[in-house]
Amino acid sequence: MTQKYDTQKRVGVIGYPIDHSISPAMHNAAFKALGMDDWLYDKIALPPDILRLGLRELRDHGYVGVNVTIPHKEAAMRYVEPDAIARAVGAVNTIDFRTNTGTNTDVQGFMDDLAAHGVDDLTERKALIIGAGGAARAAVYGLAQAGARIVVMNRDPNKATKMLTDLGVMPAIAPDWDYAAQWLFAMRGKTPLIVNCTPVGMYPRGGENPWPDEAWFPHDMIVYDMIYRPAKTRLMWKAEETHGKAYNGLGMLVRQGAAAFKIWTGVEPPIDVMLAAAQAAVNEMN
Ligand code: NAP
Repeated sequence: MTQKYDTQKRVGVIGYPIDHSISPAMHNAAFKALGMDDWLYDKIALPPDILRLGLRELRDHGYVGVNVTIPHKEAAMRYVEPDAIARAVGAVNTIDFRTNTGTNTDVQGFMDDLAAHGVDDLTERKALIIGAGGAARAAVYGLAQAGARIVVMNRDPNKATKMLTDLGVMPAIAPDWDYAAQWLFAMRGKTPLIVNCTPVGMYPRGGENPWPDEAWFPHDMIVYDMIYRPAKTRLMWKAEETHGKAYNGLGMLVRQGAAAFKIWTGVEPPIDVMLAAAQAAVNEMN
């Protein structure tokens, strides 16, 4: 037993609360599928007031790295060396203790999942980002790098302006939903993208929609909703009802995890295995 512990390579996720994380299911399924029996992914509840101590303890106990989730993503920046992506996004979601570096794999998770859905030609494509928090920053960073044209709609427009300024993207804020719809509809070129980066519509408030019912919703859009519970949000229904396409955020969650897996192990993980395990874990919650 001791022998096994000594040779075990440990990774995990820190957050508070952390009970509902599905990351252990998908990472451990990937380790199993690859026969990596000496690797284990844990779920670690870490209260905010002991974040620094907790990170030191995990490193001292030989953890290879951790994923970082709410509420530690921004605070963890202080205790590791953040890379350019983490600095741009302002949050760390993956730490490698061997180098004490932190990155943010949400950017890659989002962009890889868009590509997996065939949305890969982003140059000059219009993208309306709803929200201005950490997830929105990841989306804007990735889309801006890929050459998309970005407009942001956020409850607090000042926060949206700050996000774009921080990311070096020309500030373009939609003052209302009608403006957003008109902008998406006019001279569209490639099919425009609407990305929901708010928790509006997430379980248990699945009846909500960030796009108000009374506002015009343009047809033939691609909606990417970062929410994955429920599997189809009201916003996604709206897109499909108006002849558009809609994808939820489960693939992003899996692919950000896959990127972390690769950083820690150097091994390409089996995405299909991780996706099936993540889906099963979500189904179990319902
Ligand atoms: P965050 O930093 O707290 O930002 C939340 C954003 O949503 C803010 O811009 C906030 O507006 C807006 N918002 C919150 N409640 C709202 C409401 N009732 N009406 C309108 N706007 C509201 O959160 P986050 O980390 O960016 O996460 C946002 C969502 O993305 C969450 O649902 C999260 O689960 C999801 N997410 C998914 C993945 C994935 O892998 N699929 C990864 C990351 C995040 P203000 O700026 O005005 O406060």
